[in-house]
Amino acid sequence: MNPNAFRKLSYGVYVISSWDEGRPTGCTANSVMQITSEPATVAVSINHDNYTNGCISRSGRFAVSVLSETSDPSIIGTFGFQSGKTVNKFDSVEYEQKANLPVVKDSCAWIVCEVIDRMETATHTVFLGKVVDADEQGAGEPMTYAYYHKVIRGKSPKNAPTYLPEEEKAQEARWVCSVCGYVYDGETPFEQLPDSFVCPVCRQPKSAFVKK
Ligand code: FE
Repeated sequence: MNPNAFRKLSYGVYVISSWDEGRPTGCTANSVMQITSEPATVAVSINHDNYTNGCISRSGRFAVSVLSETSDPSIIGTFGFQSGKTVNKFDSVEYEQKANLPVVKDSCAWIVCEVIDRMETATHTVFLGKVVDADEQGAGEPMTYAYYHKVIRGKSPKNAPTYLPEEEKAQEARWVCSVCGYVYDGETPFEQLPDSFVCPVCRQPKSAFVKK
């Protein structure tokens, strides 16, 4: 089996949110797909180790916030690199209630679902949700998982003067976040950054960066 074949599948970047006994919580996910249009149903795949998994099971509801290319990348880190068991993730991310579920404001669409079925796999639960309500909001193109890897990880856009083709860039020493893989790409040399610098994606301190 060649796992590179899976890289040819396209994914987005989403925040899957729910309620934890009245407290809003959620996690980042890339596996969301529409299953049927009439009635509208959507499936999400959530790891057993994600705190949100149990919250969806208990509340029977979840929301999908579709992140856009212009969404603040720290949202991905806030929801993806820490656990909702110990952190109130929505304390640092603006949200609104839509159809009685918390959705991320800085996103381009939201979909609220009621769980109608589920399937267990070795590592993940696939929740099938009947769509209760959904809408677009804001502007911006939906972020693809490929975009997250290629652009958000600190490499310059193609039209930026600092852009370097992947091969050239790979030969330079780079400072990489050991937690989320974000590659520092700022104007200031990494060594000269203040100690207060934190990873823009997962908010880990400067000391979490390693030179590669
Ligand atoms: Fe990071």
